[in-house]
Formats: sequence, structure tokens, C-alpha cells
Amino acid sequence: MKDHESFPLIPIKKGQGIWLEDFDGNRYLDAISSWWVNLFGHANPIINEALKDQLDNLEHVIFAGFTHESGIKLAEKLVEITPPGLSRCFYADNGSSAVEVALKMSFHYWRNQGQVQKTRFITLENSYHGETLGALAVGNVPLYKETYAPLLMDVITVPGPDCYYREAGESWADYSIRRFALMERTLQNQCHTVSAVIIEPLVQCAGNMRMYDPVYLKLLREACDKYNVHLIADEIAVGFGRTGTLFACEQATISPDFMCLSKGLTGGYLPLSAVLTTTQVYQAFYDDYQNMTAFLHSHSYTGNALACRAALATIDIFQQQNIIQKNKRLASVMTEMAKRFNEHLHVSEVRQTGMILAIEMVKDKNTREPYLWQERRGLKVYQYALSKGVLLRPLGNVIYFMPPYIVTEDELMLIAEIAWQGIEHAVRD
Ligand SMILES: *Cc1c(COP(=O)(O)O)cnc(C)c1O
Repeated sequence: MKDHESFPLIPIKKGQGIWLEDFDGNRYLDAISSWWVNLFGHANPIINEALKDQLDNLEHVIFAGFTHESGIKLAEKLVEITPPGLSRCFYADNGSSAVEVALKMSFHYWRNQGQVQKTRFITLENSYHGETLGALAVGNVPLYKETYAPLLMDVITVPGPDCYYREAGESWADYSIRRFALMERTLQNQCHTVSAVIIEPLVQCAGNMRMYDPVYLKLLREACDKYNVHLIADEIAVGFGRTGTLFACEQATISPDFMCLSKGLTGGYLPLSAVLTTTQVYQAFYDDYQNMTAFLHSHSYTGNALACRAALATIDIFQQQNIIQKNKRLASVMTEMAKRFNEHLHVSEVRQTGMILAIEMVKDKNTREPYLWQERRGLKVYQYALSKGVLLRPLGNVIYFMPPYIVTEDELMLIAEIAWQGIEHAVRD
């Protein structure tokens, strides 16, 4: 709040497509999709239309003992479009809650099977899964976690496949395979007490947009099967086309035991999340009431009708407008326009997975020595870009582009140009 005495919050009056407009008539290009949620622009006519219709019929109803058309249709749709084997859908109302659901359901599954010793979770270094206590515990970004450490359950943290640290000349795949050995060893030693491995497929977004090869997911799926441990894929950020496929797991042709979805699920309109799981998991809870095996977890706004309808409209757009195919072209334009950053004296790496492109700003290109966090160079990029009408919001010293899929080539060029100028501004002493 003290920062905001010099940089006041910007009240937004209107959103239209990729643009936000404030009360003074300034416009901002939303280059980070309003924190990775917006896929098809603000005030999208198709989603607006669907919501208006939903609003005139049903805004919300208790989702226990009752259901509704949009909730049913969406569950069926999610089962249809997610990887094979995911046949059941459980709703919650934000990403962190979806992670809580997956953790609880995995643990409870083993308990219902009589495997009461399987109580622990394996997570990757530099991972992020949300900010409620359970989700925070399985995350690993110190900035969010450290303060609350005394409140959090103990987890097993394994060094990750983050390819920023690969050797010169080593491929992403080779490095990811090499790093998997650490996961394999941990699973081998501790699987008897482990309920699930939770992972962000392909991109650790909040962990500074660090990336790795799909082969890691393939190996992890095999190992989880071998060691009888669940695999939870947190696709909250990477789902819905971000990595170039509708879901990131597709690139490894794997199906997780649980898949968490939120963020882009409603096209950036309303809070909603879903946890997809298998018939096998479902069956473990299916019993007479007296046996007390049921999964008791609810939120007041679970399965909100408006949110479900927004999600249905969002998925319709994907299917009717061939978005995944169109994004391939956009992603290659992003690659093109970011090439110049490779030559920048204060950029150690430009990396990309589909519709996510990240630029790592460092003090020294050769040694990769980072800037001191206290210098807040990323914040300088943010403030500069805003003054030029582009909303970039770096993670530390990592500037990234994560635009809505309606972005044009001209707009991508504008984002890149302003980012370049922003970096020039931020590295000046
Ligand atoms: C944003 C995010 C979450 C948390 O979602 P919220 O809706 O913010 O609670 C969890 N996991 C990942 C990978 C995320 O990016």
C-alpha cells in the first residue's frame, strides 16, 4: 500500500477486446490476460450473450441435491475434451480450492482403500499451486510460502526439471530426463507413504515462467503407475491452449489421475474451477452412507450457473473457431518478434512454450548473475510499460507475454517494442 502512495491503483472503467480503459481515457493493452485468465478479450460478444441468457434463467442454485443445465453440460464437455480416462468432474470456485480438492480426494482415496499410511505429497522445487494453506504447502516459491511455513503441512520437495539450469548445449529433453532421476529415486524410496505427486505441466508459471520438456511428464506418469502414487496435473494456468495444445498433458500423451482447471476455464469472466478424475477414484467413494466413505467438500458457490455458462461459451469458441490451430501462427509471430531480445546485454534467456514467452533479465549476461531483488527492476519495466499503454507485469526480473488469443500481429509488435524499451529503461543505473 505504501508503493501505491506514489503509484496509485488504476481504476478501470471499461474493457473491450484486448484493451482496458481508465477514467481519464488512457488505454492499456492487456498483454498478460489479466493474470492469465482472459482468453478471448474483455466484453467478448459471444460470452456476453451466453451470460445474459443464463442470467435471465438462473443465476445460481444450491449445488447439493440440485443441479442445473449449464453445470451438467459443462461437466460432460470437460470429460469430452480432457485427456482420456478423466470421466468425472468435481466443481469448486477458484484454483486454490481445486488444488485442495485434488489433495484431499487423493489422500481420501487411499484411506478408503485401507492404505492409511499414504498421507504425503511430492512437489517440485519452484512450483506454485495457490495460496490457501494446503495449496501453499505443496507450492515452493519462498516469496509466498516462507512467512507461513509454521502453518503448513510437511511435503517432500524434489529438485525440478527447470531447463534454465541445463548445461550449455544440453537439450531441454536431455536435461528433463537427467533431472527425472531425482524424482524416480524419491518415489522409489518413499512411495509407501506418498499419496500423490502434484505438478504444473510444462511451465512453472508463478515460478518465473520456467519451462521443461514433455518427456518429464511421460516419465512421471510411468513412475507414478509403477510406484502406485497418484499424479495430480495442475493445469490451472497452462490449460485451455496456453502451451499450444488444449491441455499441456496432451504433449506427453498422458492422462493424470486428477486434473485441476480454473483461470481460462471461464474465459476470464467468473471464478470457477473443476477437478477432473477417473472412474476408479470415483468408485472408491461410492458406497452406502453408513460406511462413511463419501467425499465431503463444498463451497457455497460450487458450480455457479453463470460461471458454468461462461465456461461453456469459452469452450464453444475454441471448438467453433479452431483456436488451437490459429494460435500456432500467433505463437510463431511471438517467437519472431522476441528474437531481438536474445542479443540484449541484460537478457540471459528468451524461452517459449506455445502462447507463453518469457524474457529473463539479468545483471550479467555471461555469468547470469541476477539483479538484486531489492532493486525491483521488473517493477521499473511494469511502470514504464504502463506509461506507454501496455500492461506487462513481470515476475521478479522475468518479463513475459501471455496475451489473450485475440491479439493481433500489430499488437504483438507493440508489446515487444514497449517491453524492449522497458528493459532499456530498467537496466539503466
Ligand atoms: C493461479 C494458480 C493457482 C491458484 O488459482 P487461484 O484461482 O488464484 O486460487 C494454482 N495453480 C496454478 C498453477 C496457478 O497458476
